Amino acid sequence: MPNSQINPRLIQLLLNQENGNIPKSPTMSMLPGKYVKTILKNKDSLTQIIKENYQMLTCKSCGRKGKYDIGLLVLNLEKKKTEGMKDNIQTTGYFRCKHCNSAGNWELPTSLIMLSMMSVLPFGEGTQKQSTVGKNLLFDGSWHRYTTDAEEHLLNILKENPQDSFVWNRLGNLYHKGNRPELAVSAFEHSILIDPGQTESHFTLGDMLAQISDLPNAGYHFRQMLLSASAYKKMPADKLREMLAIGLQLLFLMSEHTDGEVPFLPTLHEIEASGLKDDSLNRSIAEIELEIFPDNIESFFPLAEIYMGIRAKEIPIRKRALQMKNSSSLKPKMQNGKKKKKRKR
Ligand SMILES: [Zn+2]
Repeated sequence: MPNSQINPRLIQLLLNQENGNIPKSPTMSMLPGKYVKTILKNKDSLTQIIKENYQMLTCKSCGRKGKYDIGLLVLNLEKKKTEGMKDNIQTTGYFRCKHCNSAGNWELPTSLIMLSMMSVLPFGEGTQKQSTVGKNLLFDGSWHRYTTDAEEHLLNILKENPQDSFVWNRLGNLYHKGNRPELAVSAFEHSILIDPGQTESHFTLGDMLAQISDLPNAGYHFRQMLLSASAYKKMPADKLREMLAIGLQLLFLMSEHTDGEVPFLPTLHEIEASGLKDDSLNRSIAEIELEIFPDNIESFFPLAEIYMGIRAKEIPIRKRALQMKNSSSLKPKMQNGKKKKKRKR
């Protein structure tokens, strides 16, 4: 019977257990996380970041063949030619041998190597979007051939620093991009468990849960994203604003869709629980005249900047959506030439 293709080291780190207790081929039921089961059940409703791409590969560890979703082939032209073309190829899919659960020991068929070389040709770029030229690097600049290699690299870092929520988030991203959402949510949930201020994990969980129509939980994570943003330092300010705006846009739509059952903004209770003592937050929101155009992401920038707190000041003044007349009065810039639409609630 095919195994679940889960790295036993992942389970070991997630459960903080000694190696002895973890089987060589862990089962899905060993994955911790509140959302793992529902995400697995609704996997088909999730948008694949990279389209699935099943190919027949041979595992060199056990010699058995199987079909695996390798994702996108990425051909790195900067690497030394002496290594041979196949050593310059990366894949984005997350897969392990379904027979022996080993990873990264594959015999790539020649057709695949040919496919990746097609992307070098001017007309071949992105043939059926299965291959491209470039390189995928991890946050520390390291290059890895298979996603399972990149995973090992991150697990090594986490073994030394199991409380590094940022690395847990990056591990989640790796699984997410590798079409393994159940592994992704487990890693994201873990990152939040050890650090409720992991803003990026809240965003991606919110996004994934919204896609499977779990609106109450999606809303919760987007609002936690807002409440944790001002203290989150792992993202440049403009990117942080963009992410918050996307979350706000989805929150707005969910709130409209549920007639306010999913609150658009963090509730008083949530603000208190987050430990944000900032009552200037509520004052600011009450004071600005919000103009929200649900299909215009920039109309959510003023709100995003309020939740960014002092981090909003890292955005150059001319690019800020909020003009500060003085410390107690905030006014959003006028939307040029657009009709006003007031927020309903
Ligand atoms: Zn094998």
